Amino acid sequence: MIFKNFIAGPFQANNYLLIDETTQKAVLIDCSGEVGDVIETLKEHNASLEKILLTHAHIDHIAGCYDLKEQTGAKIFVNEEDMFLIKNTQKQLQMFGLPPEKEAPVDGFIKDGETIHIGEIKIKAIHTPGHTKGGMCYLVEDKLFSGDTLFLGSVGRTDLPGGDYNELENSISNKIFTLEGDLDIYSGHGPKTTLEYEKKNNPFFGQNPIA
Ligand SMILES: [Zn+2]
Repeated sequence: MIFKNFIAGPFQANNYLLIDETTQKAVLIDCSGEVGDVIETLKEHNASLEKILLTHAHIDHIAGCYDLKEQTGAKIFVNEEDMFLIKNTQKQLQMFGLPPEKEAPVDGFIKDGETIHIGEIKIKAIHTPGHTKGGMCYLVEDKLFSGDTLFLGSVGRTDLPGGDYNELENSISNKIFTLEGDLDIYSGHGPKTTLEYEKKNNPFFGQNPIA
């Protein structure tokens, strides 16, 4: 599997590209802005982008969706509970003083526990509400893509529409910290961390995990 990280968009969110080397099929986790580097990398590996999986639908994670779908034909998936954020794309842009953009053309919904196959890559979808209602994490081999649910030494904010701190706490304690193995965690913003490190050191949970 080829694995690349791109940082794009108004709030420098992480986008993660996974390419299955056997079939040259690819998947992108979040699509936050400029899509040029993603297109280049796909070309370089002669790969076709099958799907864009969204960790959630805040504008800084979806702003490149329209463009990338137009250029690659990839299908866009989100948890249904974040559709209200997609529908409110213009409102979200205004809120941050950003110019209007085309709404992400969503093709389908992702549910908790679902497994998505991209060639030989297996992606397990985990619903982790709290930062948004439809927040999702994606587990691929020993990598967890945590969106804005869990960061290096921090957790997602819950003061935006659909945010709920108790839900976030529950998602992290019961759906992320219960995962097996020392996973690498790739979040929506900032550097990589690990499950072990966050269990010990995350100031929101480290000392007294709420199980
Ligand atoms: Zn967010």
